[in-house]
Amino acid sequence: MLEQHYRWKNRQLRDHVAVIDGEKPPNILLKNARFLHSTMRRWVEANIWIANDRIVYVGEKLPQKLDGCEVVNCENFTLVPGYIEPHVHPFQLYNPQSFAEYASQSGTTSFVSDNLVLFLFLKNKKAFSLMNELNKLPFSLFWWCRYDPMTELNQEDEKFSHRDVKSWIESGFVIQGGELTGWPKLLDGDDMILHWIQETKRLRKKN
Ligand SMILES: [Zn+2]
Repeated sequence: MLEQHYRWKNRQLRDHVAVIDGEKPPNILLKNARFLHSTMRRWVEANIWIANDRIVYVGEKLPQKLDGCEVVNCENFTLVPGYIEPHVHPFQLYNPQSFAEYASQSGTTSFVSDNLVLFLFLKNKKAFSLMNELNKLPFSLFWWCRYDPMTELNQEDEKFSHRDVKSWIESGFVIQGGELTGWPKLLDGDDMILHWIQETKRLRKKN
């Protein structure tokens, strides 16, 4: 599987520390930023240093090294953390990338999407490598793992095989299970779906 186990590699973490220590410049500096501090729940003014895909410092200090750094004066802006869209079916008139690009214009940068189209039309290996590519875009794209299709399919059991569904549930891009259309089937005793729900929970993901 292509996805890596940790969000940042050791080398990247050491680079982040080098930026904070002033040995390397950040990539972006948001100067005089008035931003919503989501933990303190109030507006705060500070300088925000960004190294690649990570905010490495927020505070009064300015970096000593600025070579190659994009400096944005945020004096007239109000900054908020990227909004989260928790329920997307990203294969209507758009695709995950075009949907994210459109939504990001008004500040939504994280998405939790239905995997059904990827699951039905691609082999897992292809789907996971596509998700890996999508993850390189400047958005956070997460997925939910379907246990059943929107409508009954011929040979549904073959398509929704235990092996395939299980490897989706285990994927680092998947943070929840569902959405479930076949509730009557589950209530009538479909133990496979009940098992997948349990398995998702065991991995500390939501249903
Ligand atoms: Zn839905």
